[in-house]
Amino acid sequence: MSAQLLDGTAIAAAIRAEVGREVAALAAQGVHPKLSVVLVGHDPASHVYVRNKVRACGELGIGSECLLPSPDSTTAELLAIVERLNADPEVDGILVQLPLPSQVDAQRVLLAVSPAKDVDGFHPISMGNLVTGRPGLTPCTPTGVIEILKRSNLAIAGKEAVVVGRSDIVGKPQALLLLRENATVTICHSRTRDLAAVCRRADILIAAIGRPALLGADHIKPGAVVIDVGMNRLTEAAEVERYFPGDLGRREGLAKRGGTLIGDVDPRAAWELAAAFTPVPGGVGPLTIAMLMANTVKAARERRGIHPGAAAARSLEKGAPC
Ligand code: NDP
Repeated sequence: MSAQLLDGTAIAAAIRAEVGREVAALAAQGVHPKLSVVLVGHDPASHVYVRNKVRACGELGIGSECLLPSPDSTTAELLAIVERLNADPEVDGILVQLPLPSQVDAQRVLLAVSPAKDVDGFHPISMGNLVTGRPGLTPCTPTGVIEILKRSNLAIAGKEAVVVGRSDIVGKPQALLLLRENATVTICHSRTRDLAAVCRRADILIAAIGRPALLGADHIKPGAVVIDVGMNRLTEAAEVERYFPGDLGRREGLAKRGGTLIGDVDPRAAWELAAAFTPVPGGVGPLTIAMLMANTVKAARERRGIHPGAAAARSLEKGAPC
């Protein structure tokens, strides 16, 4: 079998285009969604992520600001910043970039974010809304996975879904989102007995582990849909050749950048056995920022009581471009 590649880059582009149209429609009504990002410290990866998020806002017409408090900031100082953003009527989304420096109580800072502006969907109230089936903001990466499945016309209802990983930001909300879509869901973790046997039950197998190519041919039922959330770096030429035999692009990437990305699923096994799978890179990754943009606009709408679709409809009534 040769699997269908699920093109996350194209799906993310479609979502971004929809969000951009909604931003234009809201602007015609005088509503200008805005995201505030709080970035503390010098973590180079965090700086790259934040730059990409701010750039995405600019491309879609979403307002943004990046606050850079001192790396020595205390918990109290960050709480004061979050409170100010909570109270600012111009701010629709608040994102506190993790990790925070070790002197800061990250949980207290995240708890302080108003659930109405919690565009990361990490607040316990956001998670509680998801558990109890209430509307609300949901975490970006697992919500993006659901978008990939739906927009690729892959059925979720009634399917056996197995999620490997139980983190608060991916695994747990992923399982809850699949349950919301009426899948029969199993969550696996490092203490799961006979992981391969459990994974082989899956019609939809989702890997969110953080271990390069941990899931292989033994874990994939022929014809399963495989979604690989993992993002790991291979830096050894022999490993790159093993998982991507004869792939000149990968070899070049290794030579130029000193590494190449691989997911938690062995791509050779996914290619051989799955009906469809997400490549790494270019699968789940692009969805995360697209869903952050969607969440920011959703927060802007919901704070003002504007229903989905109503923004575009009202701007059409007014004869405004959209
Ligand atoms: P965490 O480290 O928080 O969680 C990893 C999970 O995997 C844990 O629940 C852990 O189990 C489980 N696990 C670890 N080893 C095994 C094993 N041998 N067998 C079964 N389960 C195991 O990671 P995250 O959830 O934050 O991220 C997971 C991956 O997704 C990473 O590669 C990360 O880079 C990527 N990611 C990608 C994003 C994107 O935009 N594409 C966004 C976010 C994450 P236990 O709980 O028992 O320790």
